[in-house]
Amino acid sequence: MNCPRCKSKRLRVINTRQDTETSTIRQRICEGCGLVQMTIEVPIPLDAVKWQGKTLVRTEDYRHVEFMP
Ligand SMILES: [Zn+2]
Repeated sequence: MNCPRCKSKRLRVINTRQDTETSTIRQRICEGCGLVQMTIEVPIPLDAVKWQGKTLVRTEDYRHVEFMP
């Protein structure tokens, strides 16, 4: 994940809270520009991603799927 404002990779988690049984809310701050963001982490189907070399990428079927808690 990169900062959407300054593109820095230095994002630090400053708060973590269990949301539902399977989802987690995280508050992150960019150490480059100070932007604060909230993210929700949810499990996704195994076939939603595939290996492309050494990188995990979304499969075509899930390219435009929005995962919600
Ligand atoms: Zn930033």
